[in-house]
Amino acid sequence: MSGGHDVAWRRAHERAVAEGRSFYIDPASGYRVFTELAHLERGTCCGSACRHCPYDHEAVPQHRKR
Ligand code: SF4
Repeated sequence: MSGGHDVAWRRAHERAVAEGRSFYIDPASGYRVFTELAHLERGTCCGSACRHCPYDHEAVPQHRKR
């Protein structure tokens, strides 16, 4: 991932969290990405290695950890 995209999604995430939203559109891929708020509301790790995991990817299989 390039530095430019990296900054863009960080900004998109920060804005979404500030607005209390559960997802944002990834600037590079156009996909929906769950914000940290959505994960906190869920309460447990889904094991999908989400970008904004607040649980340190605890349910993610070892081979999928980044
Ligand atoms: S992978 Fe991370 S973000 Fe996704 S649910 Fe598990 S903990 Fe939450």
